[in-house]
Amino acid sequence: MARRRSVRNSILLHRRVRDWYEKHRRELQWRTTTDPYEILVSEVMLQQTQVSRVKAKLPLFLKSFPTLRALARASNSDVLRAWTGMGYNNRAVRLRELARTVLELHGGALPRQSKALLGLPGIGPYTAHALLCFAFGKRVPLVDVNIRRVLSRVFWKMDDLSSSVADAAAWELAAEILPRDAYVWNQALMDLGATVCTARRPLCASCPIRSQCASAALLEHARPARRITRAGTEPSYQGVPQRIWRGRAVEALRKVRAASSIPLGELGRRLKPDFHEGEAGWLLSVIEGLAKDGIVETRSAGSATRVRLAS
Ligand code: SF4
Repeated sequence: MARRRSVRNSILLHRRVRDWYEKHRRELQWRTTTDPYEILVSEVMLQQTQVSRVKAKLPLFLKSFPTLRALARASNSDVLRAWTGMGYNNRAVRLRELARTVLELHGGALPRQSKALLGLPGIGPYTAHALLCFAFGKRVPLVDVNIRRVLSRVFWKMDDLSSSVADAAAWELAAEILPRDAYVWNQALMDLGATVCTARRPLCASCPIRSQCASAALLEHARPARRITRAGTEPSYQGVPQRIWRGRAVEALRKVRAASSIPLGELGRRLKPDFHEGEAGWLLSVIEGLAKDGIVETRSAGSATRVRLAS
């Protein structure tokens, strides 16, 4: 890995990024609030879901669970139903679990200290700092995948589009160059990474910090990076990754009346019309994985197994 560029003119860097952000920032509803709960929900949703989808789903979720207290008191089944269309259902269950812990340990108010936030289940350095910065107005650095990519390219010579520095180096640099207005800087870097300094095809010609970027000359004519897929690395059944089967199973169970369960075989037929007895072991392994994550519940009824969303 090339040596990092020294931080010589960060004032100019800040000004250019801020000026660009004023004209080009994305209008996102979670930027119009400082409510810690709303910011928490939006950050959890954004972890693995596209911005456009979060924009559509966040208001609906907040309508169902307007406060952290309301979320803490909801059943997993209700939260999973409200999570429809978001994918990665574990996040819904973990979010409710987090709400319960905050209610129990902090009376329902998210703590304002980094250490206390990091002690909560499911909160890592990124989410903790996002809350500190965006909800509580603290001057803290932030590194997500977009920010890491921008900082890597600006301060190190990256000669291929898929390279970035390690998290620890990015956090260290982000702290070193943090301006006073951390909120705008962090949001601006995220937007720059999402819309200009993109993973596969950076738009160096129209980048506001091109003249300060260590990698521009190396990357501006680089071939678009190939999409990184998990094909071949994750378990699958009949060519479909197991995580897709998991999602389909949850989707099928969302359509079952609240608190009702269905037999495993019936669920199998809803997932694939040609489901047969010989596939029961495979389906059970899918369901056991979901049960382990607190997403579904099973119970034995005679020789049959019944399944439903977790209560
Ligand atoms: S000049 Fe290119 S590589 Fe450098 S920050 Fe801008 S878009 Fe990214």
